[in-house]
Parts: sequence; structure tokens; C-alpha cells
Amino acid sequence: MAYQLNEKVRDMVPYEPISGSYRIRLDANESFLEIPEHVKADMLGRIGALHLNRYPDPLAREVCEGFGRYYGVKPELVTVGNGSDELLTLLTQAIMMKGEKLVYTTPDFSMYQCYGYLAENECIPFAKNDDFTIDVDALASLIQAEQARMVIFSNPCNPTGVGLPRVEVLRLIESVPDCLVVVDEAYMEFWNQSVLDCVEQYDNLMVLKTCSKSLRMAGIRCGFAIANPTLTNAMRAVKSPYNVNSMTQTAAATLFDYPHELDSATEAVIESRDALYASVKALADKYPDKLSLLPTSANFVYVKLPSGEAKRIFEAMKQEGVIVRHMGDYLRITCGTAHENIEVVRLLEENL
Ligand SMILES: *Cc1c(COP(=O)(O)O)cnc(C)c1O
Repeated sequence: MAYQLNEKVRDMVPYEPISGSYRIRLDANESFLEIPEHVKADMLGRIGALHLNRYPDPLAREVCEGFGRYYGVKPELVTVGNGSDELLTLLTQAIMMKGEKLVYTTPDFSMYQCYGYLAENECIPFAKNDDFTIDVDALASLIQAEQARMVIFSNPCNPTGVGLPRVEVLRLIESVPDCLVVVDEAYMEFWNQSVLDCVEQYDNLMVLKTCSKSLRMAGIRCGFAIANPTLTNAMRAVKSPYNVNSMTQTAAATLFDYPHELDSATEAVIESRDALYASVKALADKYPDKLSLLPTSANFVYVKLPSGEAKRIFEAMKQEGVIVRHMGDYLRITCGTAHENIEVVRLLEENL
């Protein structure tokens, strides 16, 4: 065989989604709520009226306007992507040059390092404290010493659920003026420390958001990058012109016409998150040598287990048709319906 894959991709394997059917899925941090029927009907009606023989709006203006109204930002500061994943690809491939330094925190969302690697950025990890907080002074020093061009982290963090308070985020942005600070706020609806309102104040801030979590639309693939006009122009210039299809644009634009439904869905998820946290915390208090967890600001809990136990319990739950996310010595459990939360906590206790 003559053709050889390049070194970079030779050992990569396709993302393997959990296959098979399970009665309870709490592994992907999606919303357990579907959008209401009347919203869905409106959405499908508008999609039915689309001219699908035509290309979509390259700037997704209706979506930007809806997003801007709901979140209180100017629509012209928003770039829409085919999920935040596409925007992360653009950031590492186009906004960064080959060999430039990308600082990412650990533990955090693994895709940052993955896309940085593919774009041939030099990826530099920064370890969080044992309680998963970020030492902003140490992070800023690393960025300065390395002359890093970009730093990225999720806030609140996936998978830890721990957030960095807004004042600390702003302090970081101000202490590294030559470095682009990308704050992935995929879960910020479940907390209250957003820096979205600051994008115009800074040259070096970009906020990422998504339809996939509190907005309950992981299936449509729609994400957002919000930044000052210079950065937004760059993002819009480097993306492929028709990156977001018209059905997704219409679905997302419709969603933002129902702000009260969006708010109440978020409240319901927060309620479920608090209930799940309380039940797992009660288990941790009962069996202090078997599991532990920290308070969470997202829609999941991140549970630490003794060595080897996380995998065993993950498998045991899977046998019972319940899927959570296994990550080393941890299980990350997305909050679900009241029934799902009770079931997952019951199985967790049973298998401890
Ligand atoms: C889920 C998630 C996203 C959303 O990605 P999409 O491609 O928009 O679905 C982004 N960042 C983090 C940290 C996430 O957990």
C-alpha cells in the first residue's frame, strides 16, 4: 500500500458515541426537557416555508438578532457556527497560526486540546488546583512567560462543574492583554457569573455559547462566538460562507421568540441539578470513604470514586440501562427528570 496517512492523524480514532438503546441517558449534559409542542409546531411551520433550493444567510442574521435580544448583546457582535465545535475549530485553525501557543486548563473540555493539536498549535496545559479552582495569577504568569496567543477554558467547567467568578475572569483578561481569552460559557445559564456583557470592553475577550445545553437543542448544531467587532469580523471572514444550514437557522431563530419558555426550562434544570446534587451529597456523607463531590454550577455532578470503582460502577449501571459518563476515577452524571435522578442515585448506592 503506497498511500500513508500523515503522522498527525494516523493514530486518531473516530468519536465513538454510546450506541444501543438505554432507558436513561445522563452522559452528554443535554437538557432532559424537550422544547414545548407549540414551539416545535411553530418551528416546523417556519421550516416548511423555507426555500431549500437557496443557500442560507451566511451571517444568520435572524439568529444573531434573536440571540442579541435574549442575551442583551448587539447582534453584530455574534458569529453563528455549526455548534461551538465548529467555532473552536476556527479559533485554533484560523485565529491561531501553526506553532503559536495555546494554553488550556486541566481538567477541562478535551476538545480544546484536540482542535489545537490538529491545527498544529503548541498546546500548553495549566493544571488547576486540587479543588478545581484556577489560580489566576499563576495562569497569567504562565501565559506571559510562554507569550501564549490564546487561553481557553469552560466556565463553569465541564467536567468539574466548578466555575471561576466573574471578577477573576476579568482580572485574567486584564493581566494578559496580548493573549486572546476565550471563555466557553456553555453552562453559564446554570450560574450567574457571565462576562458576556464585557465583550466590547476588551480587545482580547471572546465568549462562546451554545444551543446544546440550557436551550435544549443539541440536535440542531448551533453555537455562538461573541466578541468585539474586530474579532467578530475575523471569525465571520474565516468561516465557510454557508456554515449554518437554513433549517438550523430557522429553528434557532424561532427558539429566541419564546424567551419565557427558555427561562422556565433553565429553572427546571437548575431545580433538577440541585436535587441530584443533594441526593449524591447525602450518599457522600453516608459513605465518606467511597465517594466525594464538590458543589456544581452546571447541569451535572462530578463524582470521585476510589481507584477502579468508577469504571466498575459505570459498567454496572450500563447493564441496568442507565448511561453516565465515565472519566478516570470520576463519574459525570447529567441531571435528568426527577425519576431519572432517583434511579441513577439508587443504582449508584446499590453498586458502591
Ligand atoms: C457541550 C459543550 C459545548 C457545546 O458544543 P456544541 O458543539 O455547541 O454542541 C461547548 N463547550 C463545552 C465545554 C461543552 O461542554
